[in-house]
Amino acid sequence: MNTFNYNQALTVDDALASVYAHPDAKYLGGGTNLIDLMKMGVEHPTALVDVTRLPLTRIEEYWGGLRLGAMARNSAVAIHALVRRRYPVLAQALLAGASPQIRNMATVAGNLLQRTRCYYFYDPSYRECNKRNPGSGCAALTGNNRIHSVLGGSDHCIATHPSDMAVALTALGATVQVKDANEERSIPIADFYRMPGNTPHIETSLKAEELITSVDLPAPPGGTAHYLKVRDRNSFAFALVSVAAIVELDDRKRIRSARVALGGVAPMPWRSLEAEQVLTGGEPTEATYRKAADILMQDAKPLRFNGFKVELARRGIVRALTTAAELN
Ligand code: SF4
Repeated sequence: MNTFNYNQALTVDDALASVYAHPDAKYLGGGTNLIDLMKMGVEHPTALVDVTRLPLTRIEEYWGGLRLGAMARNSAVAIHALVRRRYPVLAQALLAGASPQIRNMATVAGNLLQRTRCYYFYDPSYRECNKRNPGSGCAALTGNNRIHSVLGGSDHCIATHPSDMAVALTALGATVQVKDANEERSIPIADFYRMPGNTPHIETSLKAEELITSVDLPAPPGGTAHYLKVRDRNSFAFALVSVAAIVELDDRKRIRSARVALGGVAPMPWRSLEAEQVLTGGEPTEATYRKAADILMQDAKPLRFNGFKVELARRGIVRALTTAAELN
């Protein structure tokens, strides 16, 4: 690991000043991903600005919704009474992610900013990785691409985003609040992540020094929810496919509204308003859910080893919607 400066910030302004003072500085939250990447020689920050002591840990009601402080720990969010009661899909997604020990350390902002788990990205002995080494190529395109994306990838990168929390936040229509020395701004979660295109090393719409201060949830949607995560090992693994489903039925037992977001299949949480429109007004049946699943997966481009994800995702969507609707 390289040497680096360490600074513990006590205010947001301190944190911003420290990052501006070191061009290659990184904010350090729980460190559950960044420290691993530094040990493995993937990340080389010149300075770490520890933001865990910032007064950004509150979880509180906000304009009819909920504000999650950027430094709130994943475990604190998952067990919070308002999250469990009003946003159960978020609580379920968080509890499906990582281990209890990691959830106790990981923060809301860090969860959003965690990097892909592509094997080649983590192993600098592979030179070809456009995300780690821009312009070098992508070893996964012709290599072991079993865990990689079937939607939204490019000829430059086919990595998936590993967060479960971000999938639930996408279904809920969350907004990410950020701040730098000049301004504060709000980024809808749908605009927060970038498609890889030919710049897969640029993963979000955050500017270099911007600090995430909170994630805001709007008033909860009606209906009931289910988060389904399919993975190789149930105790502790990233999603091969995950589905956040929220379904509201009307008095006639037809679907009044529905939301579906996918994880594990794309460089970012994947949501299709077209699929949700197909569900709206339909009967809560497997045939209706399968139509939505077909739309969600219609642009899938599987590679040599990840073709199974397409049917796995279709079946997962049907199962998650079925389970969510049955809870109405
Ligand atoms: Fe690197 Fe992306 Fe290719 Fe993985 S999929 S090797 S992260 S460029």
